[in-house]
Amino acid sequence: RKPIIAIDGPAGAGKSTVTRQVAKALNLTYLDTGAMYRGIAWLVLKSGIPVEDESAIAELVSQADLEFIFPSNDQPPQIIINGENVTHAIRTPQVTALVSPISAYPVVRQKLVSYQQELGKLGGIVAEGRDIGTNVFPDADVKIFLTASVQERARRRLIDFQAQGQDNIDIQQLERDIEQRDYQDSHRTLAPLRQASDAMELNTDGLTIEDVVNKIIHLYKM
Ligand code: C5P
Repeated sequence: RKPIIAIDGPAGAGKSTVTRQVAKALNLTYLDTGAMYRGIAWLVLKSGIPVEDESAIAELVSQADLEFIFPSNDQPPQIIINGENVTHAIRTPQVTALVSPISAYPVVRQKLVSYQQELGKLGGIVAEGRDIGTNVFPDADVKIFLTASVQERARRRLIDFQAQGQDNIDIQQLERDIEQRDYQDSHRTLAPLRQASDAMELNTDGLTIEDVVNKIIHLYKM
């Protein structure tokens, strides 16, 4: 198969930007697994099923028509659920708040992980997520664990929000949200967020995106 690069790490460490640019530079497909979990969270939110109702969620997910299109190179994925294109709708704070508990359910993970592994059979991808190096592609050619301090990650999120014209964001609240999502993602039973033993940790505090992308490309070419 063609190469696979796995990039894992907590929320806001810079994974999306970095992964997209690595895909572009190496002419590989950008596989954003978080977007897939967000798609399921969007579906649950829309259905009105309470987040605690695991069996109703299992039923909902098993009957859903899920289409994830990952264009080659650095284009964002298209997420289509029951015929509706939710590519933008999956980025709202309501979906973000729901995705961590929803993605802890075994039925959700089984379905999405097998979809991801199917896509990975041919290789040629840079995949971003929480469990790529540990669980989805344990044989990936390069494994990176991207980290940054909570303060730095909240600061980056704030800049993103400001760029979207939202000026009323409380940075302390952002820090709390990030810490909560990290806690949930790393304390679930199934495929918790953690660094694979053979992954290289890259702390991005004080590094530019270009620095991080170049380091990953260098590791890949070694
Ligand atoms: O990366 P992103 O912030 O879009 O991911 C949203 C959420 O999806 C994460 O907080 C995590 O709960 C879940 N996720 C996951 N496994 C992945 C990717 C994302 O559980 N491989």
